[in-house]
Amino acid sequence: MSAALKLAVGSLLIGAVVLGLKALAWWMTGSVALLSDALESTVNLTTAFAALIAIRVAQRPADTNHPFGHHKAEFFSAVLEGVMIIIAALFILREAYQGFFDPRALDAPIQGLLVNGFATVLNAVWAGVLIRQGRALKSPALVADGKHLWTDVLTSVGVAIGVLLAILTGWWLFDPIMAALVAVNILWSGSRVVKESLSGLMDEAVPENTLERIRDMISEQADGAVQAHDLRTRHAGRMTFVEFHLVVPGDMTVFDAHEICDRIEAAIGKAVPDTQVTIHVEPEHKLKHTNVVTLE
Ligand code: ZN
Ligand code: ZN
Repeated sequence: MSAALKLAVGSLLIGAVVLGLKALAWWMTGSVALLSDALESTVNLTTAFAALIAIRVAQRPADTNHPFGHHKAEFFSAVLEGVMIIIAALFILREAYQGFFDPRALDAPIQGLLVNGFATVLNAVWAGVLIRQGRALKSPALVADGKHLWTDVLTSVGVAIGVLLAILTGWWLFDPIMAALVAVNILWSGSRVVKESLSGLMDEAVPENTLERIRDMISEQADGAVQAHDLRTRHAGRMTFVEFHLVVPGDMTVFDAHEICDRIEAAIGKAVPDTQVTIHVEPEHKLKHTNVVTLE
């Protein structure tokens, strides 16, 4: 089992435990705010499941139907996650609206808060693991999961403070008000997750420092070539695609030109892991004056 897959399975298990605890806390207290917190967890559980499927699909090797691989499958799960978050937020807003006009005292509020607090600590630990590992593995689905879980932790802390205030002041309206704030916060984070994954689906270029490394490798290894131009990059999940034109002397043999290409491809592959490089070789009269990679 790969690391990404293990993490996805872990998310599923932790998500189930956290959901159980938060639902218990709601059941003990009847708090709308704690209900909103529990609902958030059901989002996590479904999206963890979606991430699991997406990672499995993304890992499939290229085939005749998908000759460039299946890496983008992960972005779909991230988009789905964002959409789920928004639906949960709207549901919570409705519950809060009803609670606002019919506020009621909570049962066993302290016990409920303790159970909910334990679930929050579990989430916080797991969110840290997901973000760190997701970045290391270049998995947008895992990073999105981790970031979302982290916003959960923050909202859970807010919820706990709100419920505590309600207990201390006896002003039970704090409960639905807190739930509404949770919903607004969730909406905001959900829209950000969607935006990030959409930019991934739109063939975004690699970050500037990675591009700089790729340029350096071309420049260092292009001995014998005249020019490199029209360098383009895009990334899909953990894969990076690189392509450019390499101008060589018109009388250079195909054998020699190919040697240069292999050298550059190997160097880029070493500097930036998981890359696929395509080089278009051209004779001198194709020299360009714009979009040129300076050679050493
Ligand atoms: Zn060209
Ligand atoms: Zn070759």
